[in-house]
This record gives sequence, structure tokens and C-alpha cells, in this order.
Amino acid sequence: MSSTVNGGISFWYAQEGTPAPREPLPRDTTADVCIVGAGYTGLWTAYYLKKAVPFLNITVLEAKFCGYGASGRNGGWLYNGIAGRDRYAKLHGHDAAVRLQQAMNDTVTEVIRVAADEGIDADIHRGGVLEIAHSPAQLARLKAFHAAEIAFGEKERELYGARETADRIRVSGAVGSSWTPHGARLHPVKLVKGLAAAVETLGVTIHESTPVTEIKPKHAITPYGTVRAPYILRCTEGFTASLAGQRRTWLPMNSSMIATEPLTDAQWESIGWNGLETLGDMAHAYMYAQRTADGRIALGGRGVPYRYGSRTDNDGRTQPRTVEALREILIRFFPTLAGVPIAHAWSGVLGVPRDWCATVALDRSTGLGWAGGYVGSGVATTNLAARTLRDLIQQDSGQSGPTDLTGLPWVDHKVRKWEPEPLRWLGVQTMYAAYRTADHRESTTHTATTDRIATLADRLAGR
Ligand SMILES: Cc1cc2nc3c(=O)[nH]c(=O)nc-3n(C[C@H](O)[C@H](O)[C@H](O)COP(=O)(O)OP(=O)(O)OC[C@H]3O[C@@H](n4cnc5c(N)ncnc54)[C@H](O)[C@@H]3O)c2cc1C
Repeated sequence: MSSTVNGGISFWYAQEGTPAPREPLPRDTTADVCIVGAGYTGLWTAYYLKKAVPFLNITVLEAKFCGYGASGRNGGWLYNGIAGRDRYAKLHGHDAAVRLQQAMNDTVTEVIRVAADEGIDADIHRGGVLEIAHSPAQLARLKAFHAAEIAFGEKERELYGARETADRIRVSGAVGSSWTPHGARLHPVKLVKGLAAAVETLGVTIHESTPVTEIKPKHAITPYGTVRAPYILRCTEGFTASLAGQRRTWLPMNSSMIATEPLTDAQWESIGWNGLETLGDMAHAYMYAQRTADGRIALGGRGVPYRYGSRTDNDGRTQPRTVEALREILIRFFPTLAGVPIAHAWSGVLGVPRDWCATVALDRSTGLGWAGGYVGSGVATTNLAARTLRDLIQQDSGQSGPTDLTGLPWVDHKVRKWEPEPLRWLGVQTMYAAYRTADHRESTTHTATTDRIATLADRLAGR
């Protein structure tokens, strides 16, 4: 493991190279729309707004560089999951949640369409998503999950037994799986770099190395000057806590990943995975993985989930015990890979709202908008958020009326703030310790019911 690169933003950036820096904001200026944060949310929003209204003057302010955050570090699962759908069903009714799910299904197709239209080669392969179960308790959850997804309108989903699962991917000890076609594998950095280039070509201005310290109605304040605009959109996800007044809005949760060296043909032969599905499991502290375009396995999960005081980042450096824990998952899934070197390990932050529900909103009285709180499901959701922000702004500025997107149940959802420290830290540590204990007990006792400690942890977390 000594040759493993640790940090350096991500394996994806190591492979692609960090971009040539764009100029910081030179002075005070004005815009029609100012977007704070150049991850997928900010860039997709700039893209759709500019496409809809080509004369709009749009400025994007980015603290570091485009894709510095989760958008340049994620697992590359472009899939139809959205954080909070089940709660939205309770709040707004089943039909509203079905519309939200349908919009997410369509979003996977939309991202693939735009990438093709814009000539963005992001190694996209639509092989669907395969989620597997390892234990009787996981299998019971998998079946319940499968039935629930079908009830939310995913008619194409398929449930597999152990043998059919192995026909797709030979995961040691897998007893069943659920597959949906609404998912694709992609290279996160190729997508974010391509998007940044596409919006610049459309005429959007991006300033990098420009941290916004405070957002106020019609003002985005930075050390280099202030951008004044009728609309200021906060697209800062896991970093939101660093903005004045936002410390307890979204909790920055860590997710960590490893990427192997490329596997040999014989190793791939032993594993299968010819459909290039993205791969996940039904553990409480779940894992996610993809087979990369250059024949590696990139695999992620929770390491140290949260750092005291909502601290966020050190360019992706990951604790050695987290790297080891992820390597153990890799070997447990694919024992023949025991000697495979880990090329790279990294971490990133995602935004978790107090009720675990993603939101998109525009406050009409102030012109302040935001989108995020995607938890771990933002690669596709950011695109839906961006098209929704576009529609909300067009509606607010009198250019159009309400649309299907502005009527979705996650629009303008309000959520309370997280508890102050040390409660926030203690709560998250306790929750993940409970999930790990529950996973261990389920896999050793072979019980077919979800461990009570995990149910309690869900309640504690407010999920
Ligand atoms: C390790 C990891 C794996 C993941 N895997 C998946 C996956 O496989 N599938 C999936 O659907 N989701 C996944 N996610 C989540 C997904 O990547 C995110 O939800 C998504 O990228 C969020 O995009 P964003 O633009 O909202 O935020 P980000 O990509 O985090 O972008 C926010 C940007 O704002 C900038 N910024 C922050 N504060 C300021 C400020 N004050 N001023 C100016 N700029 C600022 C940051 O530098 C950053 O570039 C994963 C996340 C992580 C961390």
C-alpha cells in the first residue's frame, strides 16, 4: 500500500491533470446572475440558463477551480436516486414523489444527451445500477427496496437470485441483487471539465481562486471585490458551512474512495462485470463502485464520516485506516484481487441537510437561490436542480410560467438547521458507529431482519 497516492484531490484529477487556472475576479462587477461554486450544480445551472436566454450576463465564482469539490471526486454513478424521495412522498403524496422519480429517470438520459451534444467524452456507459445483498438481513432489505422502487414507477427494475447476480458480477457471497437500467458509469472529471469548457464557449464568465465569504441579497462578496446581481445562486454543497451564516445549514459528510491499478484480463475474467454496471450493496454503511474505462475498480464508502466543527477538506487526503477499510471491502467482494495494488485514495465532502432531503429553491423576495443537500446522490440530481433553477428564474423574471419542474415536491422545501457542536459531531459519530455495528451483527448472526441498532440510528439521524 506504500505506493498508494493519497489525496491530490482525486484519482480522476491525477489522471486528467488539473486545469489551467482561470483568472480570479479582478474588481467589483455586475451580472444578471451570479453563481457561487463551479461544481456540477453551478455549471449545469449556468449551462441551462445561458441556453435558455443567450443574452444573460452570468458570472460563476469558484473558491478553487472547477470541479474541486465532490464533482471532481465522486464515484461516477450517474443514476436516478434522489435523497429524500420517500419523505417527499409522505409530505406531498405518492403521486408527487412518482413525478420526482420520473424526472430523475429522465435526468440520467438528459445528462447523456447533453454530453453527446456538447462533444463531452466522459467515458459514459449506460450499464445500469446493480445493488447486491450479502446476508439474509441485506436480502430482506433488498427485496423491500426493489418493491418500493417499482411502486415509485420503476417498472424496468429486475430482481436477481445468486446465480443471475454472478452471471453479471461475481461478488463473493452475494445472495441476490436488484438492477435498474436508470444508471450509467462515467468519469467525473471528464464531465466537469467538459461542462466548464461548454459554458465558457456559450459566453459564461468563470472566475477561479475566488472564495465568496458572504452572500447577501444581490451581493456576492469576495476578497477581490463584490459581484452585484439580481440573482445570486449558492451552489456550494458540502462547503456551504464556510459561508457566513450557513454553518449549520448542511453538514459536510465525508466519503472516501480508492482506485486499483488496472486489472489483468485474467482478473476481469474471474470477476465478469462485462455490463459495466455501477455496483453497490445494501449495507448500512454502504459501498459503491465502478469498473473504469481503463480497467480499474474505483470503490468508495464511508471513512471518517464527519470532522468536528464542519471542517471540510485537505485536498482529499484520507486516513490510512479508511484506505485499509476500503481495501478490505474490495478483497471481501473479490478475493482473487488480494494482491492488487491500490493506485490512489482520496476523500471529498457532500452536503447533508438535517432531514436528509435534497432541495432546490429561489427566494423571490431576495433573489437568493440554492440547490443541494444531495447527500451521496448528486451526479444526476445536480442536473435536475439546474434545470429547475433555470425555470424558477425564468418564472420569477416573468419570462415563463410554472413548469413541470417547478411543481416537483423538492422545490422550496424548508428544513431546520443542524444542532450546534458538540452535539452535531457526537450524533454523526454515534450514527456511523451504530451502522458499522449493525452491519457486523447482521453478517455474523445471519438474521433476516435489520438489526435494531441500525433502526435506532436512522431515527437518531432523522432519516
Ligand atoms: C467521494 C464521493 C463520491 C461520490 N459518489 C457519487 C456517485 O457515485 N454518484 C452520485 O450521484 N453522487 C456521488 N457523490 C455526490 C456528488 O458528487 C455530489 O452530490 C455532486 O458532485 C455535488 O455537486 P455540487 O456542484 O453541488 O457540489 P461540489 O462539486 O462540491 O461543488 C461545490 C463547489 O463550490 C466551491 N465553493 C465552495 N464554497 C465556495 C465559496 N465560498 N466561494 C466560491 N466557491 C465555493 C467548491 O470549491 C466546489 O468547487 C459523491 C461525493 C463524494 C464526495
